[in-house]
Amino acid sequence: MRRRNFLLSTGAVIAAGAGAIALLRPRAIGTALAQGFEISRTDAEWRAMLSDAQYQVLRQEKTERAFTSPLNEEKRKGVFHCAGCDLPLYSSEVKYDSGTGWPSFWESLPNAIGTKEDNTLFMTRTECHCRRCGGHLGHIFDDGPQPTGKRHCINGVALAFRPAAA
Ligand SMILES: [Zn+2]
Repeated sequence: MRRRNFLLSTGAVIAAGAGAIALLRPRAIGTALAQGFEISRTDAEWRAMLSDAQYQVLRQEKTERAFTSPLNEEKRKGVFHCAGCDLPLYSSEVKYDSGTGWPSFWESLPNAIGTKEDNTLFMTRTECHCRRCGGHLGHIFDDGPQPTGKRHCINGVALAFRPAAA
């Protein structure tokens, strides 16, 4: 009986918690719980709010063509935010020219990105995405400059640059 009571009360707590979240984001609740991202939208919602290029990269993990992003040439001081949810991801202080044709950084801001193993294209790569909305950003390689030795190879279309106030 004790065990049964425990299960019942746990279920009640989960239901209460889900109800509270549902009040805040009624349409996103299913996806939010399934994927575990703080910001979660339906596919239709992302399509509506993103440009086609942003949608293809952020939500479909496509890669923009090299040397197409204006952010390759961006040299001002500022912060690069997620184009999907506006979370600050990379400082201009860690941006460098890798020569690859994609904006490159040697370190993300603290608690900005998440990673997963990507086994597509017949190789194993480290995929990186926005910690808050799960939007695909690019990949991380081990051929970057010191002090980290990492190259965060990021699709420019997944970023929104905010110049620092002069
Ligand atoms: Zn995001």
